[in-house]
Order: sequence, then structure tokens, then C-alpha cells
Amino acid sequence: MNTDVFAAHESNVRRYGRSFPTVFTKALGATILDEAGKTYIDFFVGSGALNYGHNNPNIIAPAIEYLAGGNILLSLDMYTAAKRAFIEVFVDSILKPRGLSYKLQFPGPTGTNANEAALALARKYTGRPSVMAFTNAFHGMSLGALAVSGSASTRELGGVARHDVIRIPYDGYPNHTFDSASYIDWIIGDPGSGIEKPAAIILETIQAEGGMNTASAAWLKEIQRICRKHGVVLIIDDIQAGAGRTGDFFSFEFAKVEPDIVCLSKSLSGSGNPLSMVLIRPGIDIWNPGEHSGTFRGNNLAFVTAAAMCKLWSDRQFIAGVALTTGKLQEHLDRLVAKFPSCIEEKRGRGLMAGLKCRSQNIVGRVHDLAFQNGLLIESSGPSRDVIKVLPPITITDDELDRAVAILNNALQEQTNGDCPSI
Ligand SMILES: *Cc1c(COP(=O)(O)O)cnc(C)c1O
Repeated sequence: MNTDVFAAHESNVRRYGRSFPTVFTKALGATILDEAGKTYIDFFVGSGALNYGHNNPNIIAPAIEYLAGGNILLSLDMYTAAKRAFIEVFVDSILKPRGLSYKLQFPGPTGTNANEAALALARKYTGRPSVMAFTNAFHGMSLGALAVSGSASTRELGGVARHDVIRIPYDGYPNHTFDSASYIDWIIGDPGSGIEKPAAIILETIQAEGGMNTASAAWLKEIQRICRKHGVVLIIDDIQAGAGRTGDFFSFEFAKVEPDIVCLSKSLSGSGNPLSMVLIRPGIDIWNPGEHSGTFRGNNLAFVTAAAMCKLWSDRQFIAGVALTTGKLQEHLDRLVAKFPSCIEEKRGRGLMAGLKCRSQNIVGRVHDLAFQNGLLIESSGPSRDVIKVLPPITITDDELDRAVAILNNALQEQTNGDCPSI
């Protein structure tokens, strides 16, 4: 396979190409094909940007029709028929059935753009400069988003000072006996804490990049209560965990919380087309017209596929299928955890956003390489990269799921033959 062009011309910053050293061509559902004709099952799905699988026919067909029909593609934030249709279906299929009411802001197309908009709005709304962000958080690659990220290397990346972020412990950090919510409540309320009241608390319900750490429903409810009590804006970064990833549309539904601001991106378009959105509680929507902008706010092809994705959530059969797949995946993972205790420490995540915390980074590295050889794409996460991310498309077929788990099983089996040595 010729990868010389990438080595010769693409920046040293490239990563996944090194991690999966082949040249991909076509993809359908959970399966990707490379130039040599080898197939891979995708348990990585563009880091959560392809929850509905590759080229999902229900989502792609309207896009093909839209493209062929000479319809408008880029429109900044002008009104278009495609955007109107998306807003209507999002409100009817997603917000209304969940009893939610939000204003929709379309910032630039990346998740980072959504988080920056959310942080800017919370600071403007409260008039307070600082925000609280969690240990092991990941929120994106621009300065404000870098500043709120937990990883030392990520925060240092901007090369300039990152002001006005107060780091607080996530649910279960540093261990499960520590009550982080009470601590947060206390430091915000106590005038002697040395910590100023923040504009917002920004959080992920499952910290994907941070190691698939999972917040409990009780903890999320408590954080919401604390935010309301102190007049702090609650921002949920649902960029990776939302848009269906956990098996529900929003990752916070299970906890019955209603964040003030929700950021969506990654799988929002359902197709891998870039699209992001900020959901804003109406009272907080104090933007002046044009105050926040971005050239690629009007990606109409993405609106078309996003509308098709949202429609799936009105289909009972689709929802029942996702629930069945969730149960199957969890059973598979429980079996792996029970079978390979010398490799796997614990199962992490929730629903179809799962992880396997392994006993070392080396185990994960070797499982990754073996899985790749045998036709399965998986990625790692966590500060020590010792967590296998398990993110199948939520539309994966039983057969694909079984085959993928068998590959994972065999890769783990090879490790136990050597009793999972840590080097
Ligand atoms: C991917 C991700 C982002 C950043 O999104 P980009 O589109 O890469 O800018 C932010 N937050 C979370 C939780 C993410 O997973």
C-alpha cells in the first residue's frame, strides 16, 4: 500500500494514519474497506462522528438528491429551506418528545466552535470571567477550549496564558470515596475559599478522551442543583456523548437534568459532514444580532443529513434496535471483563459509549495492533492511554458486532497467553 505521499508531504502532526497504516477507500455501515480490498469493522467511528455508520442509506439518500438538485450549499446564517426543515424536525423529533425547549445557535462547524460560543455566552450572561472545568476534561483545540481541557499537554498547546479556568474534581476523582459535588458546592459558596464564583461549569457526562470516566445520574443532578443555587450556567459538552452515542439522543437524559447550554457536533449531521449547534435556554440567549459569527455556519448538506438523522428518532423500530444493540454490547463486554481479569481492570462508559480500562498502556497498544491486523479499528483514551474505547456505530448489525467482539476477544486472549506482561 502506497503511503509515501503522506510521509513525504503531510505534517508530522498526523496521528491516526500512523495508528491505522493503510489507505481506506469505501465504507458502509460499520465496515470500511482499504485499497487492498481488506475489510475492517469500525469501533472508532471518527471518534464518535459516525454514530449512524458510514454512508447510512437513510441519511445519505436525501443528500444525494439535494446535491443533484442544484440546491444551495453554503449560506452563512441566512434562511434556507434546508435549515428550516432541519430546525422543524429537530424541534419535533428531538426536543418536544423530551419536554425540552432551547434556542438553537449554529456556530462554525466544529465542536470546538460550539464550546467557544457557549463559554463566551456564559461569560457575557453572568459578567463573570472564570469558568469551572473538570479533571480529565477534553473540550477542543482553540484557546478557550484548550484552557478548560484537563490534559497537561493539551493545555500547554496554545503557548499563551490560559486565564480564568478553575479546575474541579470530576465524579469519582481522585477516587469514589471523595464527594466532589459537595466540595464544589462548598468552594463556590464559601467567601473564604479563595475561589471566585464562576460564569459556568462545563462538563462531559462521559469523559471520552479523559478515559471513559462516567458521571452518575445523582452526581449530575447535584451539579445542576449547585449551578442553580449559585446562579452558575451549566454547560454540557455533548459533542461526543450526544447525538445518539449512549443509546439516548442526549447523554444526560438518563439523569433527568436540563442543562442551560448544550453543545452538539460530531454525529449531529449523521453523515460525517461538519455541523455543530449550541442549545441555549431561552432566557440566556442574550446575543446581539451578528455578535458571534463564523463562515461555515450554513452547511446545508449537513442540515439535510442532520434532518434525516433526527427523523430516525421518531421511528420506534430504530429506537428498539438501538436498545437491543446496547444490551448486546454490554453483555459482550461483561463477558470479556470476566474472562480476562489479568488484562482488563473494569468496564467503563455507558450504553454504546463504552470502554475497557486495561492494566497497562502496553496491553492496549498490543490489542490495538492485533485488532487492526485482524480487521477491527479501535482507539485508546485516558491520560495513560490505557483505556480501549468501544464505540461501534449505534446501527451496527448483530453479525458485525459479534465478529468485532470475536476479534477483540482473540487479541485479549493472545495477551493472557503471556499473562498480560506490562512491558
Ligand atoms: C471532539 C470533541 C470536541 C472538539 O470537537 P472538534 O470538532 O474536534 O473541534 C470537544 N468536546 C468533546 C467532548 C469532544 O469529544
